[in-house]
Amino acid sequence: MEFAWTAEQDAYRQKLKTTIEELLPDNWTTDIAPHSYGSKEQIEYSRTFCAQLAERGLLVQQWPSEYGGGDGDPWQQWILAEEMMLAGEPRGPQYMNVNWIGPALMAHGTPEQKAEHLARIASGKVVWCQGFSEPGGGSDLAGMKTKAERQEDGSYLINGSKIWTSYSPFADYCFLLARTGEQKKAISIFLIPMSLKGIEVHTFPGLVGKGHLNQVYFTDVVVPESMRMGEEGQAWPIITYALRFERVSVARFHIGRKVLDRCVAQLQAEGRFSDTAVRVRAGRIAALLEAGRLLSYYVIDQRVKQGSDDVNGNIARVSVSAATMELQAFIMDYVPDALTGGDYVINEFFRANLSSTIAAGAYEVQLNLIAHGALNLPRS
Ligand SMILES: Cc1cc2nc3c(=O)[nH]c(=O)nc-3n(C[C@H](O)[C@H](O)[C@H](O)COP(=O)(O)OP(=O)(O)OC[C@H]3O[C@@H](n4cnc5c(N)ncnc54)[C@H](O)[C@@H]3O)c2cc1C
Repeated sequence: MEFAWTAEQDAYRQKLKTTIEELLPDNWTTDIAPHSYGSKEQIEYSRTFCAQLAERGLLVQQWPSEYGGGDGDPWQQWILAEEMMLAGEPRGPQYMNVNWIGPALMAHGTPEQKAEHLARIASGKVVWCQGFSEPGGGSDLAGMKTKAERQEDGSYLINGSKIWTSYSPFADYCFLLARTGEQKKAISIFLIPMSLKGIEVHTFPGLVGKGHLNQVYFTDVVVPESMRMGEEGQAWPIITYALRFERVSVARFHIGRKVLDRCVAQLQAEGRFSDTAVRVRAGRIAALLEAGRLLSYYVIDQRVKQGSDDVNGNIARVSVSAATMELQAFIMDYVPDALTGGDYVINEFFRANLSSTIAAGAYEVQLNLIAHGALNLPRS
């Protein structure tokens, strides 16, 4: 693995920084970003921002040109993720479209599905949600209960419910998993418009950032066969691909470092950073974030060179989560005023990461996968 950025990658990062600065409106830090990236305000703004990025060829630069991209260096997707995270993720939920929904469609969609969705995603005007987790449990996807039953005319009738479906109140489409058979893993993928009759979204309050706590109900929703992606009951490899990308695609360590620096700046300004105990903890968190960064880069390097990552993706995810947890404890101990109206960047980071050990796969499940996949320990 090469540890330095190339001149082209540095230039691309600089171009992104300049563009972000040019595009973000004056009220970004006062009226939009403090609501969090899953909020109505930020999702609505993402439709403007991503369309502007797309016009400048910066939204899906690393996609193949046949799908509206620029055949760019695969690392550009990662640099984009870092710079967007640093700016407060003005793409809102559209990071998912760029990172894995689009690529999954390229690999597994029918020509009609590609024609319908990829140009729209590349235009930066469409919001997706991900309907995987259910009230009965998110870790055990094979235990899924939402059913898609074949009708005589070939269409499916979908009944069930999904929970935690981030962005669903404002999404145009759902990347939905549903059971199409009795065997444990007989699951299929449907790409459905959220406007279909029989879909209802209920939002409930909670501590984590806005936009995540939703339950989506599907009652006799009629879905044509043309909306199924991949063969019936054969969704598993696509799910595995999606989950891998989800685990290491959000540059949490990057925003973590910005948040740590802001905490330290506040402590210095208040004359509290001379305390050795505080300095040791801040130094330890900086080292943990750096370890998370390098492990994540290692995973991206594997993806670029081999097309996929292995258990290193789980290791990188656990490492970044551990760093995030320590940073949260630091905020709570030393800059708690940020949680009640102080620095909104610290506040938003704290709230958004309250669930960082659950979202995109529970921490303990990741540890099990590492125990088995990296340490060769027996499963029981
Ligand atoms: C902010 C946020 C946003 C989310 N957005 C989405 C979304 O958009 N779409 C979506 O589909 N889902 C989403 N999720 C759901 C997320 O994927 C699930 O929360 C996660 O998969 C865990 O599932 P669960 O909450 O049902 O917990 P469970 O699977 O019920 O697990 C509960 C506890 O049991 C432990 N556990 C479970 N199985 C094992 C095991 N095999 N070994 C060891 N311990 C185990 C877990 O560690 C956990 O502590 C989101 C979650 C959060 C927090």
